[in-house]
Amino acid sequence: MNKEEIIKESKNKRAKKLVGLRNYGKHGQPFDFPCELGYHCPVCKYPLTIKGNYDERLDWSEYWGFIWCSVCNKDYPSALCMPDKDRAIDIYLDCVEEVILRIKKKKSGNKTI
Ligand SMILES: [Zn+2]
Repeated sequence: MNKEEIIKESKNKRAKKLVGLRNYGKHGQPFDFPCELGYHCPVCKYPLTIKGNYDERLDWSEYWGFIWCSVCNKDYPSALCMPDKDRAIDIYLDCVEEVILRIKKKKSGNKTI
């Protein structure tokens, strides 16, 4: 994946400040697309699959814990994109836990975060 494909149009300064960039600003992406993991845009109305193919409007946002919808051109917290509410709760808590850990590492002087 080249650099141009990673840059999204949507910008959320508050998300960048609070949760930071995915992969700490380094390039690279998770191996599965969000749709393959059950994520769904919370605003767009569409079936999860069409003739056995996933709708690929969602992609991993540049912000930690967010998913970007190419149709809405907006970054949504990933928990909002999970129709399964029990998984949504876990995703939310994972994001909060990750941010807390990053803050603790930062305070302890770990410069790698
Ligand atoms: Zn959407």
